[in-house]
Amino acid sequence: MREYNLKPPAIEAADLQWRDGIPESRQFGDVYFSRDNGLEETRYVFLQQNELPERFRALEDNDVFVVAETGFGTGLNFLATWQAWRENRPHNHAILHFVSAERFPIAPEDLARALELWPELKPLADELLSSYPPLFRGTHRLVLDGGRVRLTLFFGDVVDAWSTLTFQADAWFLDGFAPACNPDMWLDEGIRLIRRHSKAGTTIATFTAVGRIRRALQGQGFAMRKAPGFGRKRDMIVGYLPPEEAEPAQPRTSGPVAIIGAGLAGSLLANNLAQRGIEVVLIDAEQKAGAGASGNLQGASYVKLGVDFNAQTELALTALNFAYQAYEPFRGRFWHPTGLLQLAWNEQESDRQTRFLDRNHYPETLLYPVDASTATDLTGVPCPFGGLWFPRSGWLSPQTICQRLIDHPRIHQRLGVEVRRLTPCNGKWHIASDGGPDTIVESLVIAAGHLTPQLIPLQSSFRFKAIRGQVTHLPEGLLKAPRAVICGEKYLNPMAGGTAVTGATFDLHNAAPHPTEQSNQENLDKLRTMLPDAFKDHPEPSGTFEGRVGFRCTTHDYQPVVGPVKDMEGRKLDGIYLFTGLGSKGISYAPLLAEYLADRLLGHPEAIPGPLQKLLDPGRMNRAKTKDNRKNTELSSNEAVK
Ligand code: SAM
Repeated sequence: MREYNLKPPAIEAADLQWRDGIPESRQFGDVYFSRDNGLEETRYVFLQQNELPERFRALEDNDVFVVAETGFGTGLNFLATWQAWRENRPHNHAILHFVSAERFPIAPEDLARALELWPELKPLADELLSSYPPLFRGTHRLVLDGGRVRLTLFFGDVVDAWSTLTFQADAWFLDGFAPACNPDMWLDEGIRLIRRHSKAGTTIATFTAVGRIRRALQGQGFAMRKAPGFGRKRDMIVGYLPPEEAEPAQPRTSGPVAIIGAGLAGSLLANNLAQRGIEVVLIDAEQKAGAGASGNLQGASYVKLGVDFNAQTELALTALNFAYQAYEPFRGRFWHPTGLLQLAWNEQESDRQTRFLDRNHYPETLLYPVDASTATDLTGVPCPFGGLWFPRSGWLSPQTICQRLIDHPRIHQRLGVEVRRLTPCNGKWHIASDGGPDTIVESLVIAAGHLTPQLIPLQSSFRFKAIRGQVTHLPEGLLKAPRAVICGEKYLNPMAGGTAVTGATFDLHNAAPHPTEQSNQENLDKLRTMLPDAFKDHPEPSGTFEGRVGFRCTTHDYQPVVGPVKDMEGRKLDGIYLFTGLGSKGISYAPLLAEYLADRLLGHPEAIPGPLQKLLDPGRMNRAKTKDNRKNTELSSNEAVK
């Protein structure tokens, strides 16, 4: 990874100067687009020379078209491509993916100003601006135009982007400033990686005609030629990758896909695939979606960010930011971005937050520190301490969201169906349940929370743990109603329908399926210690409260599990995937992980970069068979399903 000048995860913004209303980069001393007519230049150099309109029109159902670009800049190339996609797209389930890397992202206010130059692109520019990520380094996936356009925007150096992202392009836009102003962008290493991400026949176009660049591309197997340049430029170069030079295509399924488990993970994945035109069979033993760990009345979009910025923290942050976008359609109904306070509730946490703030630099749109008085104002509850304020976080009703997500004509619900056995046969999976014929599919995802290990068709034991969590329902009148989510040793949500949920217990060695008074009391005691003045006239609340029990599926390293099932030797089993191990983090993590798994299943560019994918790898969950394996709380595969 290249060096950054700011503390993580912040990234330096573009330093712009405006001349005659046109942005120029002070870092590079060059203009973002032609002074003659930037939009026409883009259309000529990149769209026309890559023959995009014709190629878009020729796409078949479920095809994906991938454009990759060096230097996102103002997003003009992206918007012009999206506009051409809208004008030429076939009316089927083809999807446009646009993958772009940007070392110095333009700040949102500058981006808005630059894009005002193109009134005809305004509706698309507005949509881009409303999902444009805060400036932190890493990979951002934007789902636009109802999912028909997906932008993977890597904030960082282009070589890091192409070294870590998984995709294969159909067309390349080699933008970036002139090689003389920006030699780093045009390094041989970058050009070698461009070939690695190219399909047979991939086309490539660039505004520059510099001989060194043409020769470097030819050296990587591209057939290149000169074409007349735009405006005052004499030449540009354009080419393609002959099929014999290309890497093999990414594997993909065209469905149907079966998903076992209709919790938040399974429901989000089902909806994601269905929106991409894939038929889904969604199976759950319960009669309704979100009946397991996702069945609480309220859940908070909470993540724990490490003191030192590492891969786990990058995953948490990327997921959290994606979740805001994913839940936006439910805002005000089932998603309430009230803000969330991570209270510095004891000395240890206060010290942790101090070190966290010292070593990192987060954009204020993501989080910032607040003192006790501001925390009190923001949450409406007397807070004895300050903490970290996440202005875009909040709470949602997971069960209702699950039910909405699966209400889709391409999702075939099989609720109340208990899966007994999963058997591979002739490249397909046979799903046997009580009664009825087997469901037979090419691809199968197990998203059954803590019940997942019982379903994995391998003679093994797995490093999953089922951890009981009981929440307590607090009736109206008991509390000074919080306006925002407060998290500390426990969390407390705002009132909804006369109830605020607090909890949850974390019971490693307790399998009691029903709420107990003891767990309710534990929740109340800890909440009172954390927020002594939150209770109105009941300094010592006791009595009978309602509650609910769920079992989190957690892993030995507290990271989720997403990807193909692997055997003890680390070999992938074809067509069978896991999506579980979300612990208490499902609300924040599940949308991004569903997006990523759908990408993988369909052979689309992947929303999560390689180093973060490693954290999710199911291969780490197999445990070598020893006598001790079955003694502890780790869950084994069930003999009945072999
Ligand atoms: N495609 C852009 C548009 O549609 O507005 C214009 C791109 S502008 C000419 C070049 C961009 O490349 C700048 O935004 C610059 O910050 C970015 N850039 C330069 N060097 C880079 C590098 N090594 N890695 C990633 N981006 C880089």
